[in-house]
Amino acid sequence: MSERIIVAGGGIIGICVTLSLLEKGVSVEIIDRDPPASGASHGNAGVISPWTCVPQSMPGNWKNIPKWLFDPEGPVSVHAKYMPKFLPWAIKFLRAANETGLPAIGDAMSALNRPNVDLYRRHLDGTGSEHLVADSLYVHVFRDASAADLNKLAWRMRSERGTPMEAVNEGELQELEPALGPDYKAAILLKDQARALDPGAIGRVLFEKAMAMGAKFRQANIQGIVTAAEGGWNADTDVGLVHGDKLVLAAGAWSAQLLVPLGIKVPLEAERGYHLIFREPGVKLNNSIMEHDGKFVASSMADGVRTAGTAEFAGVNAAPDYRRARVLAPLTKQLLPGLNTTDTVEWMGRRPSFPDSLPCLGELPGYPGLIAAFGHSHYGFGMAPQTGRVIAEIVTGAAPNIDMTPYRIDRF
Ligand SMILES: Cc1cc2nc3c(=O)[nH]c(=O)nc-3n(C[C@H](O)[C@H](O)[C@H](O)COP(=O)(O)OP(=O)(O)OC[C@H]3O[C@@H](n4cnc5c(N)ncnc54)[C@H](O)[C@@H]3O)c2cc1C
Repeated sequence: MSERIIVAGGGIIGICVTLSLLEKGVSVEIIDRDPPASGASHGNAGVISPWTCVPQSMPGNWKNIPKWLFDPEGPVSVHAKYMPKFLPWAIKFLRAANETGLPAIGDAMSALNRPNVDLYRRHLDGTGSEHLVADSLYVHVFRDASAADLNKLAWRMRSERGTPMEAVNEGELQELEPALGPDYKAAILLKDQARALDPGAIGRVLFEKAMAMGAKFRQANIQGIVTAAEGGWNADTDVGLVHGDKLVLAAGAWSAQLLVPLGIKVPLEAERGYHLIFREPGVKLNNSIMEHDGKFVASSMADGVRTAGTAEFAGVNAAPDYRRARVLAPLTKQLLPGLNTTDTVEWMGRRPSFPDSLPCLGELPGYPGLIAAFGHSHYGFGMAPQTGRVIAEIVTGAAPNIDMTPYRIDRF
């Protein structure tokens, strides 16, 4: 009899894992308390870059932290009460920024991102929603032209991994993106990538595809993960036990708390990010735009111009503080002076972040049949299809064709 797998979490990671398992003929039941793709996977910035290989923690970043923390419009905020819980993670985060470890992190990020555009297009093929992944440049824009320096470490990391890049001046930037304001004096373009026109819709379309291929979905809150007397794993939910021969944990930022009763502790933070959608923007962007100083991404999507970014540390269950979304309005207006800011939608989501920007992937040592697929931090939308592929290999006992060592859960 073929195995039955529980996928705990119906975000983009759980959905892509499910599709890859179904392709191998494995039965899957997804459990999520919310509708599929409604967590971080719904509201992200939609960047799908095969070239993502630069982690959040980079040498020298620490110098910006005081400036960021004390600026109410800055990209990082930590709730005062949460500081004692945040500090141990922050120390690990800063320690990850050493030049010796960086090449391995860059390679491991690359291995998960490189095929992402092709894999999304393959998954979407035949769904009627192929248009939701559009060709795009990734345009990193700078106010200070001298800062657009391809010799800096982050750009060298990309270049060493084959990223097609070009630095352009103000005039060339204006031709590419006429809606940008005059403050922007230079840009670095990452070529040959894509952007999502509606990340949540992509998740829902792929979820529907998985259902059509035979997956099951149970809307339930998982209260615990326990070994089953008959072998395998039970998800202990508010509607009863759900049994699987194996269980893939893909519960995003909530994954760590489900492991605590098993005696497993991992430094996973809910790095809360916000977005604002300008519904009647009056302007249009042709590509994904990264505002280098403000550390936010703007993109024209199906429902308007979406600006997404900011990192807020307040714990996974704290209520959203939508002031963090609203700070994006004046920043986006500076980026796009013609923007109509009157009709907006605010949103908060939780990036599941480890200090080294890499996820945990693979069977947990000492827990046969319990497989980690969480912790994709700022890059989970792009890393999802390849994560699905490698997790499906692990579940079915095949060897993934990438080195899995960097994603081990016991690396911290
Ligand atoms: C502002 C912002 C911008 C971003 N921009 C990008 C980008 O441009 N490109 C990119 O690649 N990535 C981006 N990301 C990161 C990306 O969105 C995440 O890494 C990715 O969505 C994580 O997917 P996930 O499936 O692990 O988590 P989620 O989408 O959060 O899914 C986890 C699911 O698990 C369910 N769950 C959790 N606990 C339980 C439980 N106990 N019982 C039942 N269900 C449970 C939740 O309900 C949820 O549906 C961004 C994130 C944010 C916040």
